[in-house]
Amino acid sequence: MASAIGWYGPLIDLSGAASHVGDFVQLLVFVHRSTPVQYKLSRGGEVIRTDVQVGDDTRPWFTVSLWQKQMGSLAIPGDVILLQNVKVARFGDLIDARTVSCSSIVPLVHSYELMVSKDADKLIGNSRLGTAAREKLKKVIGWVKANEFILHNKKLSRNWKVVEVGEYKDCTSISEVLNLNCSCKAIFLASVGEIFLPIAWRATCEMEKEKMFISRRMNSKNGDGLAKDFICTGCQLCGSPLELEHSKHAPKQNSVPLYCDKSSDRLHVVSLIYQPFMLYVWDESGSLPLLVKNKAAELLFGNIPAERVNLCLEAKLPVHKSCSKGVPEIHSQARGPHHRIRAKEASDIVSPSGDEMEREEKNKCHDSVDFHFVWFVILKTLLQRGKNSPLRFEVNVDPRLDRESGRYEMVTATLPCFRKK
Ligand SMILES: [Zn+2]
Repeated sequence: MASAIGWYGPLIDLSGAASHVGDFVQLLVFVHRSTPVQYKLSRGGEVIRTDVQVGDDTRPWFTVSLWQKQMGSLAIPGDVILLQNVKVARFGDLIDARTVSCSSIVPLVHSYELMVSKDADKLIGNSRLGTAAREKLKKVIGWVKANEFILHNKKLSRNWKVVEVGEYKDCTSISEVLNLNCSCKAIFLASVGEIFLPIAWRATCEMEKEKMFISRRMNSKNGDGLAKDFICTGCQLCGSPLELEHSKHAPKQNSVPLYCDKSSDRLHVVSLIYQPFMLYVWDESGSLPLLVKNKAAELLFGNIPAERVNLCLEAKLPVHKSCSKGVPEIHSQARGPHHRIRAKEASDIVSPSGDEMEREEKNKCHDSVDFHFVWFVILKTLLQRGKNSPLRFEVNVDPRLDRESGRYEMVTATLPCFRKK
């Protein structure tokens, strides 16, 4: 195999790794799974290590640690790859391999090719490898093919909790939903009664407590800072708030899960989100609280993401000169549009953007729709008790939880279509 750097050591079988401790080697292996180890920080932090479980015809399991961020994306579970210039290391009784700055990864055969192609020679034919490497590739493909279960069980090898989707239950009333004792998806019609926003991390006095009941705040102009209370920094996918304020004042209920159970790579995707709230719905037979997290909240608020609302809200406010005061500025390449943060929080964490960029984005908002206003109108409309037709809710029922902690979690809400008889 020709590369710009060349090989610093021999191509070895995994079974022989122990006799190469401290040396550079080349490994031609099948990737079982790839696990990013470090938690992604909210302000442009990054994965610093990826542990990859690999195997070959001589040893089914072996660990390689990737220390270069960009490499993680090349070690895809199900693929056969060539790891060039990795160093074998011993850790107590364990032997593993790790990448260094001159290491590289060459994907050789993709998982879908392995699955569809019966002919190993055909798969090898496409790669530009030397004789020894071709021989090895043939053996590894032969080993994977002989152990088809490796390929087919690949999807089951995730070691974190997979959200189970139970069966659908069409319920004719809320009392029927309340009687469900199994994990399932309930579908029912109900009217919105109230939104309870647990802003307990900052509410201390009795006056403030009242602010958690949103319908009471709808009469004041623009809801009296309502959007600010609804929006926080958190994970777009699972809807967990990731703000310091939350963890400081409500450590037990709101402790941040280390891994994201809604993400394929287990990492949270951080942006501004709607913080979890309770939507009280009712019909003639009773009422129940639905836990609404970011994604569901977006659906409820006319597909308007929290980022949009906040952007338009900020555009209405005078530019905060203070937001970057005394805060070191970091220009992170990894920062995408989802990593914007509120100016308010800039003192807690490093400022992600300069004033100029912020102003530019605000101006952009002036030209388009005022999503903050639209959001507010939708919210107000939702809370017009007794004036709306019921919505059709799809709800995940988790019988292990009690009502106040998310036994019923909203998945979607739609306007049902009634036919006149
Ligand atoms: Zn998440």
